[in-house]
Amino acid sequence: MSPGDLAPGDLAGRLLAWYDRQHRDLPWRAAPGVLADPYGVWLSEIMLQQTTVATVGPYYRKFMAAWPRVEDLAAADRDAVLRAWAGLGYYARARNLHACAIEVAQQCGGRFPDTEAGLRALPGVGAYTAAAVAAIAFDRPATVVDGNVERVIARLFAVDTPLPGAKPELCRLAETLTPTKRPGDYAQAIMDLGATVCTPRKPLCILCPWSAGCAARRAGIAATLPARRPKPDKPTRLGWAFWLTRADGSVLLRRRPDRGLLGGMMEVPSTPWRVAAWTEAEAIGLAPSPAPWRPVAGSIRHTFTHFHLDMQVFVARLPAGAVAIEGIWVSPEDLAGQALPTVMRKLASHALGRRA
Ligand code: SF4
Repeated sequence: MSPGDLAPGDLAGRLLAWYDRQHRDLPWRAAPGVLADPYGVWLSEIMLQQTTVATVGPYYRKFMAAWPRVEDLAAADRDAVLRAWAGLGYYARARNLHACAIEVAQQCGGRFPDTEAGLRALPGVGAYTAAAVAAIAFDRPATVVDGNVERVIARLFAVDTPLPGAKPELCRLAETLTPTKRPGDYAQAIMDLGATVCTPRKPLCILCPWSAGCAARRAGIAATLPARRPKPDKPTRLGWAFWLTRADGSVLLRRRPDRGLLGGMMEVPSTPWRVAAWTEAEAIGLAPSPAPWRPVAGSIRHTFTHFHLDMQVFVARLPAGAVAIEGIWVSPEDLAGQALPTVMRKLASHALGRRA
């Protein structure tokens, strides 16, 4: 398997020349040839996992305005970090982000390690993020392989093994191309190539600096790669949420346990989420307080990575003389400032009769 007549050095040279002209301007990025701030690179790479550049931009700016240095983020209240992260999803990232900032500030003198191995030892930093920070912030010849890079490499070498099984092969092939000169710019260049030219459905081969060496383009199969094993259907889980208000209008929220889905975030109390339907008696038995619960017409749907969630919402006013209830009471005006993940914001909007 070989990318045409072009040697790895030719491919890297062509890609870097293209990057010098066509690179994307991103808030966390330095100009070609200039090393970026490790804190900004790390923050952006954590945010970009499973999330698009367009979504991340405002969050990145908000974090940098609030906590411009890793020491600032380390000193922040964790709930303030979770609140700022609300809506970005995959909330374990926010908890690990804060833990990592504390470790860098307290154990590393505020300086990020400059090797992949050192970076991987930090909380929440996996192989991909370690390689990205090592390459982009420290110009280490680390091979960075995200979804964009997998697609480009699968096409360049015409690898037709389906993902995810093809990952090790794609990483090995990507490694053969990583240059020792300007590896940080190269890492960003191949990501940009995947994002802007070698796009999923209609690759713009005519604009591609690698078109002369691309095996998939020559074979006319570029748009069919990378091959993917069909994804299994997502199950649908069901739950009842309980919107309990007091006489002053405030509503009961709880904090979810640190471990697990949406860990550490705030929630509207609910039953567990399961595939089997709930009977009214079962569900009401799990409500935060005995009360005359009334259903809100309709339901809300939210899709997580592995399942769809359909929630019914029930509302009630806390009866006079009710026993103390675990949780915090929040006025509707203060809901926006809470660390509520998107699914809980949808529930709140539904309970309040607003469009989500
Ligand atoms: Fe992708 Fe086309 Fe470039 Fe090949 S020639 S890497 S398919 S854009």
